[in-house]
Amino acid sequence: MEAEYPVLHRPADQATQWPSVPILAYKQDAAAPYKDVTRQILFDDPKLNCQLRYFEVAAGGHTTLERHQHVHAVMVVRGSGRCLVGEQVFELALHDLITVPPLTWHQFRAGAQEPLGFLCMVNSERDRPQLPSETEAAALRASAAIAAFMG
Ligand code: MN
Repeated sequence: MEAEYPVLHRPADQATQWPSVPILAYKQDAAAPYKDVTRQILFDDPKLNCQLRYFEVAAGGHTTLERHQHVHAVMVVRGSGRCLVGEQVFELALHDLITVPPLTWHQFRAGAQEPLGFLCMVNSERDRPQLPSETEAAALRASAAIAAFMG
């Protein structure tokens, strides 16, 4: 979205995404596994040097399990679900705040019955996400809680 002022984007109701903001594919990288996630770039202004995105994970869907040097600041604004951050699995409820530190494995999963929608603030310039190798995935699955989370 180009920075043009003033700009107001209003959802049609509390359950809908901002219809005037384009809904994008979650990732351009077809090699990164995920399921049923959309992405909207809500704020993207070079003078801020950050982006605020909205991700919506459909019921039963999940984001990519990944890590990277840049951090995420996340706020749940719709539905519920769970996330993995490092070695911990968290149950997510409305308005929970989650910080994803540098080089920390993370993934967001919606529950089976409802979507999970969250805001995510991120640097404009950022490193490319890394995916776990087979060895790293096996190390994560050594934890029963993480193995259950990963499915
Ligand atoms: Mn990430």
